[in-house]
Amino acid sequence: MKHFDVIVIGGGHAGTEAATAAARCCAQVALVTMSFSNLGVMSCNPAIGGLGKGHLVREIDALDGILGQAADRSGIQFRLLNRRKGPAVQGPRLQADRKLFKAAVQAALSATQNLTIIAAEVIDVTVHGGSVSGVVLADGETLSAGSVVLTAGTFLNGIVHIGGDRTSGGRVGDKASTRLASTLGELGLPQGRLKTGTPPRLDGSTIDWAKLESQKGDDSPIMLSFLNTAPFVRQISCGITHTNEKTHDVVRTNLALSAMYGGHIAGVGPRYCPSIEDKIVRFSDKSSHQVFLEPEGLDDNTVYPNGISTSLPADVQEAYVRTIAGLENVRITQPGYAIEYDFFDPRSLRQTLELREVGGLYFAGQINGTTGYEEAAAQGLVAGLNAAKRARGDQGITFRRSESYIGVLVDDLTTTGVTEPYRMFTSRAEYRLSLRADNADQRLTPIGDAAGCISEARRAQFETKMEEICSGRNLLENVCLLPSDVAAMGIAISDDGVRRTALSLLSFPDVTADILAKFVEGFSSVQPEIREQIAKDALYAPYIARQLGEVAALARDEGIEIPAEFSYGQIASLSHELKVKLTRVQPRNLHEAGRIEGMTPAALLVLLAHLRRPQAKRAIA
Ligand code: FAD
Repeated sequence: MKHFDVIVIGGGHAGTEAATAAARCCAQVALVTMSFSNLGVMSCNPAIGGLGKGHLVREIDALDGILGQAADRSGIQFRLLNRRKGPAVQGPRLQADRKLFKAAVQAALSATQNLTIIAAEVIDVTVHGGSVSGVVLADGETLSAGSVVLTAGTFLNGIVHIGGDRTSGGRVGDKASTRLASTLGELGLPQGRLKTGTPPRLDGSTIDWAKLESQKGDDSPIMLSFLNTAPFVRQISCGITHTNEKTHDVVRTNLALSAMYGGHIAGVGPRYCPSIEDKIVRFSDKSSHQVFLEPEGLDDNTVYPNGISTSLPADVQEAYVRTIAGLENVRITQPGYAIEYDFFDPRSLRQTLELREVGGLYFAGQINGTTGYEEAAAQGLVAGLNAAKRARGDQGITFRRSESYIGVLVDDLTTTGVTEPYRMFTSRAEYRLSLRADNADQRLTPIGDAAGCISEARRAQFETKMEEICSGRNLLENVCLLPSDVAAMGIAISDDGVRRTALSLLSFPDVTADILAKFVEGFSSVQPEIREQIAKDALYAPYIARQLGEVAALARDEGIEIPAEFSYGQIASLSHELKVKLTRVQPRNLHEAGRIEGMTPAALLVLLAHLRRPQAKRAIA
């Protein structure tokens, strides 16, 4: 029987990240997946990053994971979302060439030492004395291991729905994992069903591009990996079009034929990624929805119409798509579909993503109720690192909410669980001013280094960068200025007599690193990207101090009661979604309100402010 330190089941985004992370920690790893050719497949949208998700990719990269680098190598359009807002909520995103992404993932796997890839189906996970001992393959072969990471994605009892047609499948073209789902069922873990969907794919040569608005990438593209500075391949534009009343009529008339609306699917779907059916029902007052036409590759005519995922029958899909401007004669190359699959309640997991009930068995990715490549990869990284540590008898590694989005993700999953597919948003992080995409390396590369998962090349690059940041920052800290000196630089300031360092001026509105470069000796010779980083770090320094105070205060106020008749509808700044959840759950105090899925620290502070109002206090009395 072959033995490995770690066996990873599944070669999707969670599995490839788990396997490479464990191998970087010097564990002998087997990655067992259904087929070699599907390593690095993007099941849905050919895009990586975005708000919250881009933060996760940067954090994975800071820990030397593979997602950011593979994405950059395949990036055909880079955009920094929220560019006009503050750096804390800016999310780097790119559109990827599917084939190049897959090739980059496969190249990263081939270059990983200590990693064996086995193309096979796992049908059982063996457990002895409360701990995992290995896996059984479909051909009867058994592999043994100290740790096993399960990352089977949407494959466990997967059912693909197109209108009334149902077929067993992990995604279109891949067989479902039914035998493993059945043997895992014997563990008796709490589980449920979720669903997700994807739009039809279009033949780009049949789109009337001349009719459409086009969207270019950024002029100065921002990479996802800290190791890269510029795109690797030619950049392209996307098309933008819109649904209209005719589109909505076709969808509305055929709603009963939709798998999701015809009652064929029991699982809960992702509310933040609604299908076209959902949009038309939930936002019935809207007469139009935006659709991005995203080319799937440089030498591929396939186009991904972002915004119209569906589980309507194929002929209805064709009818509604052809009502859209530019798509009047379009050919559908692959109909959209919905998939329903098993997931396990992630509250059964520790913060290391190890099952509480079975030592050495880790779960990561979509099987934990999340959606998205980035969420899957982040969990894969955590599980892979911990699986390697356990197999070698080392202490596990966990991530705090205050230091990373990875920590927020794992903490949300393992403490509050999921009621719908979970995706990351910046609003989920209470420390988001300090958890920025731009400083993920400063937050996490030292942690990764201590955990033994950082390469020599990354360590060297990071150390050089930090030395440059420190010396640039010193230049600014050593300059002490009176208000009159600051005013002489053309910066608006009240004459309060306070002496300030040039560094602290960077938290003033409109003071940029470029302005300081004109006045502070030596600062102009600091590299522009290092100056920018110093400015971003300094911008938030006073806010972060205040934020830490607010979070501490919130912890003190957790026992504050909420009157039974309290009306959440009166709080204008609460999202509709939170009002609905709070009204349904009726938390008895602030602590219970804080545990509601999707509740953010900012929303809790708003609630606290309302509870402190006299009428709320009277109701409690
Ligand atoms: P997957 O990428 O699904 O990988 C699972 C891997 O496990 C596969 O390689 C499979 O071959 C392997 N495997 C399974 N069972 C076994 C076994 N028994 N033995 C060996 N190998 C096995 N995300 C979004 O963010 N937005 C979207 O709009 C969106 N839409 C989606 C639509 C569809 C139809 C699908 C399928 C997914 C969608 N996703 C979307 C989700 C996104 O694709 C996943 O979140 C992500 O791929 C999950 O990664 P994973 O590694 O957990 O699983």
